[in-house]
Parts: sequence; structure tokens; C-alpha cells
Amino acid sequence: MKLLTPDLHAESILHIDLDKLKKKNIKGLIIDIDNTLVAWDIKSANDITKKWLLKLKEKGFKVCLVSNNTEDRVVKFNEELKLLAIHNAVKPRRKSFRKAMEMMGTNISNTAIIGDQIFTDVLGGNRIGIYTILVTPIESKEFWWTTFVRKIEKHVLKFVLKKKHMEE
Ligand SMILES: [Mg+2]
Repeated sequence: MKLLTPDLHAESILHIDLDKLKKKNIKGLIIDIDNTLVAWDIKSANDITKKWLLKLKEKGFKVCLVSNNTEDRVVKFNEELKLLAIHNAVKPRRKSFRKAMEMMGTNISNTAIIGDQIFTDVLGGNRIGIYTILVTPIESKEFWWTTFVRKIEKHVLKFVLKKKHMEE
């Protein structure tokens, strides 16, 4: 159970207190892509995410994208960002975490993972012993929103049709 528990839970990447991470001596961030930085079906980062990634750099964090997704997806997503990146990572296996730390020049004591999945990001991070940060998946928020909007639309449509019927 402990292996599945993140050290920190945040509503989104934007809600992570970066200064607190600095105080914890975190120097390297392993970051998941799908549903952490963008929804899984979105090809590249939006301006808010780009700004946030830039802020990480300004604050002195090393960053490495680590994704279980394909080379094609990761390379395209990273085209403009030009960050360190690992594709086909097979999280929660530890190999890609080790590789990411090697690429960033960090170690277990000063590296954190940010991801949306307990069974890949959190489990993998905890297994190797780095600081784990779980964010709420972007996809499900959008899904919730879409469902919510569709429900309202349905009600509105019903109402409009009823009114129309009465007027006829
Ligand atoms: Mg993910």
C-alpha cells in the first residue's frame, strides 16, 4: 500500500509548490506526458504548460520527460520543448528512472516524479525511492466537464423542444 501512496498529491501541475520542492532539495524532475502535461490525444503543450515548463528551467530544475508512450508521440510532443526525454519507458520498471537521473545528473535523494498514474508513475517512483507527486489526470477532468456540459445541453434541448412544441 505504501508503494502506491504518493508523497504529494496536487490538483494539477500548476498547483505544485515549486519553492517547497526546492526546499526539499529536489533538483531533477521526471515528468510524465499523457494526462499529466496534456490530455493523451493532444499533440503538443499549450501556452500555460509551456510557461510552466519554462518556469521550472528558470528555477533551476533539471527536467526529463519519461513516457510509456511511443517514440513518435514523445518526439512530436517534445519537438518544440527540446527537453530530455525517454519514450517506451515501461514504468513502473526502474530502468527508465535510472536513465532519466543519469541524463539529468541527479540521484535518488534529489529527484522527483510528477505523474497522473498510481500504477506506473507513483509505484515506479516509490520502488526506486524518489519523491512522488501524483496529479489529477487531465483527461478525466475534461471528461467530467464534457459529460457535465452534455448533460446541461440535453436539459436545455429538452426545454427548448418542449417550448417549441407548445408554441406550435
Ligand atoms: Mg500519464
